Amino acid sequence: MFETERKDLVEILKKKGIRNEQVLKAFMRVQRHLFVPDIMKQHAYADVALPIGMGQTISQPYTVAYMTEALNPQPGQKIMEIGTGSGYQAAILNELGARVFTIERHHDLHNSAVKIFDKLNLKIAARCSDGTLGWQEFAPYDGIVVTAGGPSVPENLKKQLAVEGKLVIPVGDKKVQTLHIITKISDEQFKTREVPYFAFVPLIGKEGWREK
Ligand code: SAH
Repeated sequence: MFETERKDLVEILKKKGIRNEQVLKAFMRVQRHLFVPDIMKQHAYADVALPIGMGQTISQPYTVAYMTEALNPQPGQKIMEIGTGSGYQAAILNELGARVFTIERHHDLHNSAVKIFDKLNLKIAARCSDGTLGWQEFAPYDGIVVTAGGPSVPENLKKQLAVEGKLVIPVGDKKVQTLHIITKISDEQFKTREVPYFAFVPLIGKEGWREK
């Protein structure tokens, strides 16, 4: 279903500058309409964020593609995602062959993401907790992607990243953020590339924004 719509979306992503063939293939394979509420299905392949309940959104496909390309996960690598939401970004990472560990703070969103992972038989590890603390048990990670915007880069995530690993995280105020693409050079040294003008929902937690 929606094969033509997916092809059109991949063309849009190419036009917007996504080059990685593996990433584009993953967008062709993962069915975004399965990750959005029923009433949104006909809009699932528009390049826009869509509401998924609890005031949260499934990120815009271009943003997911951009972050995934920046992370550049290789088959077998351990990747941690903070902000499972619909589960779509996790499914894209899984499609690329990564071993995915994803964290969501809202129980309802966590539960429905786990349901869809099971239904599609995706082997994705998911937990419900504050992702700003990371997931120590399986650290270090070859890559970490944070799909909500925080005021700063959580120290826990920097610690749980493997040397040479990449951490992709939006940092800024609650409305606009700069995407930080951070490479861990050594246990103390990090190199950061910043890309401006992204808009994510807030990262709420111990090393994020305070809950209202
Ligand atoms: N990757 C998701 C995007 C969801 S939006 C997708 O593909 O659909 C970001 C998600 O981050 C929201 O669901 C929000 O509840 C969650 N979030 C915010 N702060 C968090 C935290 N500290 N730990 C875990 N999840 C968090």
